[in-house]
Amino acid sequence: MRSRTALLTADELSRPYERTRPIEVVELELDDPGPGELLVRVDAAGLCHSDLSVVDGNRPRPLPMALGHEAAGTVVGRGSGVRDVEEGDRVVLVFVPRCGNCRMCASGRPALCEPAAVTNASGELLRGGRRWGEHEGRTVHHHLGVSAFSEHVVVDRGSVVVVPSELPPETAALFGCALLTGAGAVLETARVRPGESVAVFGLGGVGQCAVMGAALAGANPIVAVDPVPAKRELALELGATHALPPEGIAETLRETVPGGVEHAIEAVGSGAVLADAWAVTARGGSTVAVGLPHPTQRLEVPVVELVGQARRLLGSYVGDSVPDRDIPRYVELWRAGRLPLERLRSSQFELGGMNAALDALADGEALRQVLRPHGLDP
Ligand SMILES: [Zn+2]
Ligand SMILES: [Zn+2]
Repeated sequence: MRSRTALLTADELSRPYERTRPIEVVELELDDPGPGELLVRVDAAGLCHSDLSVVDGNRPRPLPMALGHEAAGTVVGRGSGVRDVEEGDRVVLVFVPRCGNCRMCASGRPALCEPAAVTNASGELLRGGRRWGEHEGRTVHHHLGVSAFSEHVVVDRGSVVVVPSELPPETAALFGCALLTGAGAVLETARVRPGESVAVFGLGGVGQCAVMGAALAGANPIVAVDPVPAKRELALELGATHALPPEGIAETLRETVPGGVEHAIEAVGSGAVLADAWAVTARGGSTVAVGLPHPTQRLEVPVVELVGQARRLLGSYVGDSVPDRDIPRYVELWRAGRLPLERLRSSQFELGGMNAALDALADGEALRQVLRPHGLDP
């Protein structure tokens, strides 16, 4: 079949993207799903900071690439051998497919699936190769096995989790990246206990989900840090007890929480912000890196603090989540009103609005803009 998709043809272009247009909407040939694969109609896709990082060159990827990694859709076709997913099922797409057989999958850590790390880096699907047809003679790459900004996609069975059809797609999309990554960093990586103190740096989609995760864990206080007042305001509504701008945070946070916080979560993707998070972490506490910075960024830490204060420095990828276990749990919490993910949506847009949406994200204004590839809601 043919599918329209948002193709990133060049990275590191200057802004505004509305003018330089790194994304071109093209119609490409899409192969039928192979063995163990699915054809999915994308119903909604979230625009995440990691997409912007590919566009601005902070996260270099093979180009051209059909971009996007956070989405929900409907299964419309199955390759041979797929028996546990039906046509018509609503699915959340997960940006690390799991093979189920490697050392990491066998250890209950599918976010670190070894074959998936290789194929995600090379822009292929888990079973190898690409299902997109060429564009102007060039090979088109998949983004993290998903390529969410498309009308239809072919994905591995291991890239989806089936969810109840009552979950609206524009909300379901956020389960795949923002929620797994943000809430997972608090609940799975840091393993926050009731009454422990948490600070979250960066209040985009992932950071707000970390705030919600901290509230679910019963953390107190929960300090939300971001330069944008509207984002701090929303964090307070989602469970933060305090909200602070980042200027002078090492001092202001210690005035709020003497001795520092037991868990500091960095959801910006900046070595300097991670250094701030380290600076406000209490003795015996954990500093968790969630944001993805440019590969050249470094963190310098006094080893004597690490050892003498028994501190922990933790990296968290996909929130250390087990999507098949965690997404159904989160769906029940959403149903109970305890994960109001719809609060994160700032606007919706169509494929033609991709470049403008990237500008709004880069400006720090937008929280979660959601693409509706088959047209906007009335
Ligand atoms: Zn993401
Ligand atoms: Zn694996």
